Amino acid sequence: MALEDSERMVSGSMLPDEQQDEYSLRPKRLAEFIGQQKVKDNLSISIQAARARGEVLDHVLLYGPPGLGKTTLASIIANELGVAFQATSGPVIDDKKDLAAILSNVEKFQIFFIDEIHRLNTQLEELLYPALEDFRIDYVVGQGPGARTVQLNVAPFTLVGATTRAGLLSAPLRSRFGIVHRIDFYTAEELGIIVRRSADILQVPMDREGSEEIARRSRGTPRIANRLLRRVRDYAEVKAEGRITLSVARAALEMLEVDHYGFDEVDRKLLLTIIEKYGGGPVGVNTLAASLSEEVDAIEEIYEPFLIQIGFLHRTPRGRVATPLAFQYFGLKPNSAQNALF
Ligand code: ADP
Repeated sequence: MALEDSERMVSGSMLPDEQQDEYSLRPKRLAEFIGQQKVKDNLSISIQAARARGEVLDHVLLYGPPGLGKTTLASIIANELGVAFQATSGPVIDDKKDLAAILSNVEKFQIFFIDEIHRLNTQLEELLYPALEDFRIDYVVGQGPGARTVQLNVAPFTLVGATTRAGLLSAPLRSRFGIVHRIDFYTAEELGIIVRRSADILQVPMDREGSEEIARRSRGTPRIANRLLRRVRDYAEVKAEGRITLSVARAALEMLEVDHYGFDEVDRKLLLTIIEKYGGGPVGVNTLAASLSEEVDAIEEIYEPFLIQIGFLHRTPRGRVATPLAFQYFGLKPNSAQNALF
């Protein structure tokens, strides 16, 4: 595919220039966090119980597609507990020494957040286990015959792990998390509330219909909603005296080539490949990845979760299948084999 994920307007991952705005738009308390009601209710009880008992909160695993609020929730947990928050990510720590240094410096009850925790290497996982269970680390100093194991105590802390791929987590690591929550795509109504909240913070004048249009095209993802809002704001400033109305939002999003469903050319190409090259499927994900010159991981992690969620794509034991909805989207008729599948 021609586009890198980091260039996609509708990528759920953070783009290089977004850090600053993300920080200002990120909710700080549970009450400001829109949607995910069940997760919030459960977390709120876990947090209150830990506080009341004066104990450390159990380790928390949050999983779901990128841009849905996992990092935000982790920092909110720290705020609600009134403890320090420290963040890193699986691919960043590649050395036992680094992890041992972090662990031996954690503060009592603090939140230690590891993003993309499925990418932590096995050696690091093993260093982590005693830290998670008994708040100690076994650390080997020296090499060869002179090597010896030193035990270091670690302050009781809570690990919050986030992953887009819970299935890739090793069973022993997964079993260390007492609290596990799946974060789902948001409804258009919830995204509308998020867009209006962000517009207030960024002081962008906007009609309700304008916010709803942005929300509808944000593929269930707050990060995308905030990104589209900023781009529509640019358009509105240049073309419409700064106010985001329905027609301004539509014109801006059309220019950005984000269509009614929030699809961009990558989604269209993926669906069209299944339809045109493989008769609508089933086609194995490896074959599909090769046809699109894409990584299997990227298809599974980034592109297909939303297409599956809105019913355009099915994952079957024999491979991916485009649904009749996907055919209709391109103005095509599902073939008889396809109809028989649904
Ligand atoms: P993830 O860690 O799952 O990739 P983030 O927590 O970094 O996602 O969220 C991306 C951005 O989306 C945040 O900066 C925040 O502004 C916004 N966001 C995410 N979830 C919510 C929510 N429930 N309510 C309001 N804003 C949200």
